Amino acid sequence: MEFSLIAKHFTRATPGAVLGVGDDCALLAPTPGMQLAVSSDMLLEGRHFSPQDSPAGIGHKSLAVNLSDLAAMGATPRWATLAIALPEENDAWLTAFSRGFFRMADQHGIELIGGDTTRGALTISITVMGEVPPGQALRRDGAQAGDDIWVSGVLGSAAMALAYRQGRLFMEQIDAAKVLPALYLPTPRVALGIALRGLAHSAIDISDGLLADLGHILERSGVGARLAFSALPTLPVVQAYLHEAVARECVLAGGDDYELCFTAPAGRRDAILAAAASANVSISRIGQITAEPGLSLLAADGQPLHYDKTGYDHFAA
Ligand code: ADP
Ligand code: MG
Repeated sequence: MEFSLIAKHFTRATPGAVLGVGDDCALLAPTPGMQLAVSSDMLLEGRHFSPQDSPAGIGHKSLAVNLSDLAAMGATPRWATLAIALPEENDAWLTAFSRGFFRMADQHGIELIGGDTTRGALTISITVMGEVPPGQALRRDGAQAGDDIWVSGVLGSAAMALAYRQGRLFMEQIDAAKVLPALYLPTPRVALGIALRGLAHSAIDISDGLLADLGHILERSGVGARLAFSALPTLPVVQAYLHEAVARECVLAGGDDYELCFTAPAGRRDAILAAAASANVSISRIGQITAEPGLSLLAADGQPLHYDKTGYDHFAA
């Protein structure tokens, strides 16, 4: 597509790169001794956002979900590339999209250093690169029996906001305003991920629901988990509007929360709480890793709570 479009909307100063947008490749000089963490996430109209959504919000969210993967690895964000397909050259849309994108980029010190722009059904594909000291990345395969299981923020808000936006749930506007930002303007927990380096044994970001994503840690680590349902953090508005079973589904299997779920030795609780405080994020201790595989969910009275759905599967829809 036209170079003037790229120059206007996607070209900014990139002091952290040797060479940014405008040549056949960008040139990067990673910090000596650091490992590169690299991840891609693609967003499609109709599946991850709808045509009526605000373009600034789409810019925010498409970078935020990528930054969330760097956060879950404990990596410091450095660079991003953006491949975008657009049905038409829409200057107002691109102006708003890039404003949302660069606001999120500036908050996390990540620089857009290249990409591709083409005509087609609206599709946004971003690759992010971050840096992490050798041996300190927060991987999925490091959970150990006896670890505490922690989660940041609250769960279920984005799923509830989606139900509201799709007309499946009525909410007063004042209450809807409490959950809508979780869906449209998610906050990647970048500072928390960095603060957990050297402390957490394992981590993942929750994009497909707590049970599904914690399940990935359990599988990769060869362990199980016991979760206390009453310890799962959620907003009061979730209980206020939803029947118990639906609230439970939002909290356990709702997608799009982009909180971090991580495990750490029980002996490091104070250090974990201090790390979360330094990152200005609330965290909750929700259970323990067990040597026996499988995931059990306990009600407040200690009795098992039966639940068999394991998150939103993109390919099941
Ligand atoms: P080429 O044909 O060599 O791939 P392009 O015309 O696709 O070059 O892109 C020109 C320059 O603009 C390249 O440096 C590319 O990385 C950059 N670029 C293209 N689209 C985007 C975008 N959406 N965001 C950021 N940089 C982009
Ligand atoms: Mg190209």
